[in-house]
Amino acid sequence: ALTAGGPGDGAASLAAAHESPMSLERPISNLFYQTRLRRPTLARGEGVYLWDSEGKRYLDGSSGAMVSNIGHSNPAVLDAMRRQMELSTFGYRLHFENEPAERLATRIAGRMPEGLDRVFFVSGGSEAVESALKLARQYAVARGQAERWKVISRFPSYHGSTLGALAVTGMSLMSAPFAPMLREMPKIPAPTCYLDRDGLSLEERGLRYALMLREEILRQGPETCLAFIMEPVGGASTGALVAPDGYYAAIRAICDEFGLLLICDEVMSGAGRTGRYLASEHWNLRPDIVALSKGFGAGYAPLGAMVADRTIAETVIDHGGFVHGHTYAGNPLACAAGLAVLEEIDRLGLIEAAERQGAVLKARLEGLMAHFPFIGDVRGKGLLLAFELVADRETMAPLPPALNAHLRLVDIAYDAGLIIYSRRTRGGRVGDHFMVCPPLIVTDAQIDEIMAQLTSALESFAIEAKLPAGG
Ligand code: PMP
Repeated sequence: ALTAGGPGDGAASLAAAHESPMSLERPISNLFYQTRLRRPTLARGEGVYLWDSEGKRYLDGSSGAMVSNIGHSNPAVLDAMRRQMELSTFGYRLHFENEPAERLATRIAGRMPEGLDRVFFVSGGSEAVESALKLARQYAVARGQAERWKVISRFPSYHGSTLGALAVTGMSLMSAPFAPMLREMPKIPAPTCYLDRDGLSLEERGLRYALMLREEILRQGPETCLAFIMEPVGGASTGALVAPDGYYAAIRAICDEFGLLLICDEVMSGAGRTGRYLASEHWNLRPDIVALSKGFGAGYAPLGAMVADRTIAETVIDHGGFVHGHTYAGNPLACAAGLAVLEEIDRLGLIEAAERQGAVLKARLEGLMAHFPFIGDVRGKGLLLAFELVADRETMAPLPPALNAHLRLVDIAYDAGLIIYSRRTRGGRVGDHFMVCPPLIVTDAQIDEIMAQLTSALESFAIEAKLPAGG
């Protein structure tokens, strides 16, 4: 049933689409095919579960793409959205302030480190990152430092699909076709200490990676460097990569030494997923600008935010204002959803739950290593968790690419009704890795269910790929 539609015959396809869009082999609303050529049609969601139009149930073990942090169809959020819809769904920002936006901004500022209290709403993660890069640049220009424009980032990393965010994204598969259109930005290696076999302690390795930032700034010329952007806990590109503790303070000190702004991309790690509102809080790391999305709107509305240090934002405003904006940004409906999401996170204690249930799930994933020698690493914080498959745990050599482990294991689990999220970072050192990131409302019984389905998927994959299991 999973066959690709043939090319050509656009008129006939469109005519068919008008009758019944979903009867087409290839849906016209989806240009992106990675794992499956034809996916089931989503019918409804509730809590940690989703159902397709055939009535099959799926446990959303990755919260979509680490989005649905409070679960699906939360009644309080739906009520708040309905109430807002009756009042207004849109008022243009040049014509009106709107109450949901101002209330959400106030609530969000209250969650940020001291002084980070200027909020710019957007409709997604790429827009949040794009806004952060542009605000940083305008701040430098406003301060008479127009020669600063280079934003250093890490490889691998993912910061978004728009051209600016893509320029700082370290993922050659995503950026290669657009290379001539991009202003290439300097990259340093992500702190993949778990892959290093050098006799150093973890902390020493972490510091070595942080010092690569210093070396890169010196190589580029500090006066040309504007900012450093990183995910405090990695997302899909590195599979929930956590650096050794000392890395974070060292990065902050290096940014300060050379006057770079520190942008934390918390699009995936923020909004409570790691057991703190911001993942940077685990290390008392104070960013200058933060990008939020995903769990911030939690799948209820397209919503994101850039939160900036007051001085940065006020300086830019005093020099004529931020020359950037998106029409739908900060609309009252999305902000009312975001506000209700935040209230549910507090009412249900979901940040604490992320820490507690994350510890339970991580220990269970680590337990799988005894049975499956091809699991090389389990990592993450709170409920931002991942495991990596390898050919050899000692050397961390990756599985042969021909096995397509990152696609096959996901498909086997999917067929059995468990959704997880995977990547293989080509060109980087990180191999096939799998995000296991259920909504923060996940119960102990649902963790049991995830583990039972995952274990049986790994067993099937081991047989198919002729890998050893058991022990
Ligand atoms: N930054 C990070 C860390 C992300 O994980 C993502 C999405 N995977 C983005 C930015 C881009 O967000 P969006 O897809 O909403 O544009």
